[in-house]
Amino acid sequence: MAATGRSSWNVVKISPATHPLVLGTAGELESYDPATGELVATVATSGISDVDDAIDRAAARVRRSPWRNDGALRARVLFRWAARMRENSEWLAELLTREQGKTLGQARGEVASSISMIEYNAGLARAIYGRSIALKEGVHGVVLREPVGVIAAITPWNYPLNLTIRAVAPALAAGNAVVVKPASLTPAIVAAAMSLLDHEDLPADIAAVVVGPGGTVGDRLVTHPDVDMIAFTGDSSTGINVMKSAADGLKRVSLELGGKSPNIVFADADMEKALAGAENAIFSAAGQICTAGSRLLVEESIKDEFVGRLAERAEAMRVGDGLDPSSEMGPVVSAEQKRTVLDYIEIGRSEGTIIAGGEAMESGAHANGHFVRPTIVADLPSTSRLVAEEVFGPVLAVQPFADEDEAIAIANSSEFGLACGLWTNDLNRTWRMGRAIESGTIWINTYHHFYGETEVGGFKRSGIGRQQGIEGLLEFTETKHLNFDSNPNLF
Ligand code: NAD
Repeated sequence: MAATGRSSWNVVKISPATHPLVLGTAGELESYDPATGELVATVATSGISDVDDAIDRAAARVRRSPWRNDGALRARVLFRWAARMRENSEWLAELLTREQGKTLGQARGEVASSISMIEYNAGLARAIYGRSIALKEGVHGVVLREPVGVIAAITPWNYPLNLTIRAVAPALAAGNAVVVKPASLTPAIVAAAMSLLDHEDLPADIAAVVVGPGGTVGDRLVTHPDVDMIAFTGDSSTGINVMKSAADGLKRVSLELGGKSPNIVFADADMEKALAGAENAIFSAAGQICTAGSRLLVEESIKDEFVGRLAERAEAMRVGDGLDPSSEMGPVVSAEQKRTVLDYIEIGRSEGTIIAGGEAMESGAHANGHFVRPTIVADLPSTSRLVAEEVFGPVLAVQPFADEDEAIAIANSSEFGLACGLWTNDLNRTWRMGRAIESGTIWINTYHHFYGETEVGGFKRSGIGRQQGIEGLLEFTETKHLNFDSNPNLF
């Protein structure tokens, strides 16, 4: 491999002939490397008839297959999938970097955590219990957890592997069938990883991948009468539309949506750790992460020093090709995303003060990619769109606060409630703040720690339902009560 980390690449070709879980007869989608513009993969695209075919087959099979009742079979299939992912992990990580742009280190982390998520759910597949209860003399209730049926998993491009597996692994572990639709910018990594699930032990038609635009292929998944549940991860406004469409069929929805998460630094925090944490919170994956700590709430007494030092770190970050081992931040995913991010930076320039970055990188090694400098903006009015809206790029808005009450008020002033960081050495404060902040995840003296075991999800406009953990798996089950009466008379 060359010093830049770039070796030659054989364009990945995914079609039903080579990857039978992919149902696509409508054409071909190409995906391109956001760092260089090179062709990365071609993937067969699906028409409405392919989507219908996938759903019809899944619906016909899922209620009659041993899959539904055989937890040991499901565990075996999922553990094998994890093992095959592990065998192919280096290739998957490179494909992920080439298709999405994140650094190879981050891509390796995403592959590893996806494998861990499969293994966690493989273990749970044999431990989905109901309960029984004596209700009165001669009367017993048995409460069962049954699979929901056919799940449509619709996923975004920012953590394409992780966010697909976060839905698919528990859905399968609970005995459902799954039809996956990846985002059109990152179809190959999802189709390739899903295809590793394909094995003789996997019953036919229990998993399928369809590829194509959200407005047609995605919409058909949401509205098809035989889809029982939609597990959607993406933008809040798309999620609201998905929920509206799903309402006609009274379908169950799980929505993992956007965020504008506060990362709150108190004067008593460990400054070095908080600086590293604030940098990771916003610039990891070029800010394209739903839980990005995109609002830095910093106590006024340390604001100048903290923000000044964070700006130095941002300016020193090496932004480049994700395959170059020296790169600390890759490109944003597409030309369109770059334009969106630059538009927000212009809002920052006109309404506040840019104290780091503030521009695209378009010359030399950056000429063919979608690179934006890590950007920090201070002195913004609280009404600024840059304070309120999700940018989904490497842009941090600074919001100073005077005391704990003001920090809570600013943190909760967002319409989102996905994640929050708290940096302080005061244990009692972490408890008070942790209870007061309206957010699905609160990291204390850390940021972006995710585990298969612990639930994630949003308050307010950040979503409905939880993924990961035991609750995340139970979202993919229906509760049924069987009532037994052994008395000789009815009442
Ligand atoms: P997006 O909403 O544009 O697309 C997400 C998926 O929905 C894609 O597969 C897309 O094709 C599909 N889609 C679009 N319109 C549809 C429709 N009408 N019916 C059915 N499907 C449709 O989001 P994106 O740009 O791919 O991803 C970025 C967004 O995802 C950000 O807002 C980010 O915060 C959010 N996100 C949330 C989480 C979380 O866990 N809360 C995680 C990652 C990303």
